[in-house]
Amino acid sequence: MSGLEDLYREIILDHYRNPRNRGELPSPPAARVEGFNPLCGDEIVVYLQLDDPSKGDDAIVSEVRIGGQGCSISQSSASMMSAAITGRTVAEVKDLTRSFKAMMSIHEGELDGGEPASAADADPGESRLGDLEALRGVVKFPVRIKCATLSWNTLLQAIDEA
Ligand code: ZN
Repeated sequence: MSGLEDLYREIILDHYRNPRNRGELPSPPAARVEGFNPLCGDEIVVYLQLDDPSKGDDAIVSEVRIGGQGCSISQSSASMMSAAITGRTVAEVKDLTRSFKAMMSIHEGELDGGEPASAADADPGESRLGDLEALRGVVKFPVRIKCATLSWNTLLQAIDEA
């Protein structure tokens, strides 16, 4: 297990040190949304460009840029997110967001000594999370869960505004 934790730590640090899609996009046309996690002081700015917003859930994420600053968890989560959603449709991005948040909340429930979420809630798409799986370990530190989900909540807002 420690070998896996080391791997996860390496992935997180790699994204923190070499963040993907760092920068800005002209807004408009890109949607620009800021997110803030007061518990930790994390700040995330998501710039989201869709190919054609009129297509709704079928629109494709053509470009994403991430700004802001904060702890390694918040910044690496944003970096992984930006890599995972580029080129996906809005529907796929929403699915992925659900999977990621389910991974976080399932474990959050276990920490509280509660029953793990039901199989129906455990999205089978979890296996698509790739590098994002590395953030699984974060749930051992419940106060950091908001660090990990900050960029995703900010992204959902950006989708609404795109
Ligand atoms: Zn944080």
